[in-house]
Amino acid sequence: MANLSEFELIDQYFGGQIASYGVNLGIGDDCALLTVPQGRQLAVSIDTLIGGSHFPKNADPELIAERALRVSISDLAAMGADPMWMTLAITLPSAESQWLAGFSRGLFRSAEEFNISLVGGDTTRGPLAVTLQVHGSVEPEKAMLRSEARVGDIVFVTGTVGDGAAALAVIKKELEVGKSAFSYFMSRYYTPKIQIRPMRALADVSRCAIDISDGLLADLGHICNASGVGAVIEAERLPLSDPLRKLTDSETALNWALAGGDDYQVCFTVSPNKIARLEELQEQHQIECTAIGEIVRGKDCVCLSEGRVVVPERTGYKHF
Ligand code: ADP
Ligand code: MG
Repeated sequence: MANLSEFELIDQYFGGQIASYGVNLGIGDDCALLTVPQGRQLAVSIDTLIGGSHFPKNADPELIAERALRVSISDLAAMGADPMWMTLAITLPSAESQWLAGFSRGLFRSAEEFNISLVGGDTTRGPLAVTLQVHGSVEPEKAMLRSEARVGDIVFVTGTVGDGAAALAVIKKELEVGKSAFSYFMSRYYTPKIQIRPMRALADVSRCAIDISDGLLADLGHICNASGVGAVIEAERLPLSDPLRKLTDSETALNWALAGGDDYQVCFTVSPNKIARLEELQEQHQIECTAIGEIVRGKDCVCLSEGRVVVPERTGYKHF
């Protein structure tokens, strides 16, 4: 890479952090050497964000890093896994120290929040792209699989839905908003609240979860396919944030909630006989989640509004 040598760059911006659990050897050798905690299995997931496609190329590097890590960790949350280690493959058009310093600050800020350590990576020159592989651990019987939904289960979603798509519209300046709404939606897009802590707490009552990246209906559809079931959710029960309700009409808000994507909340199912326990856990751990429907026989995943099927327009794939 330009000005800085590759090794100086790695050392300066990605090295020197405190090793977390199980890191026998971190950055600097051919491989990292890691020990998975006894009795747990490794949960691995990888995501790539391309500049100009998944985020604006001129976005603040601090925010790019935070979003990249949070989006990756969201998959660990949806598996019920604890974050442990990550590797970073970064492609940069040039090695600009200001950009790298910002990126590194953002990366380690979110890394600290989720207690995950950087143990290796790859640095190359080319069009801006960030790939993060995250490693977590989970007890085998506690992993939350898409294939574990059963007829009669209640469908829940954490937090609120629709803010991700709304945020994209705001960032792309398709909608004009005041200062405080702008900063709300910026934070929903770049630093979504990842549900690691709630999902760990819910491991006792749920065996089935998915994070919402493509849109609630599409992602719940993945649960239905994998489990061989259908689902019916109710539009009136969907949790929408106040800023979203204020931003747009109810039809658009519903459309974004169902098909917008980029929410990084978790949709999960709970058997009816575990609802009382769920409510205890909700109280105890202050978990925000809402029952939105039910798993049914069949294979269709539908949303009803006053008894009629809502067919949302797809909005989930238009990025920048
Ligand atoms: P190799 O050629 O053996 O793949 P590299 O020269 O690419 O090794 O990298 C040297 C060390 O620096 C390795 O331990 C690698 O994991 C680490 N590394 C490279 N790029 C990054 C990065 N962006 N973030 C963290 N670690 C990195
Ligand atoms: Mg390499």
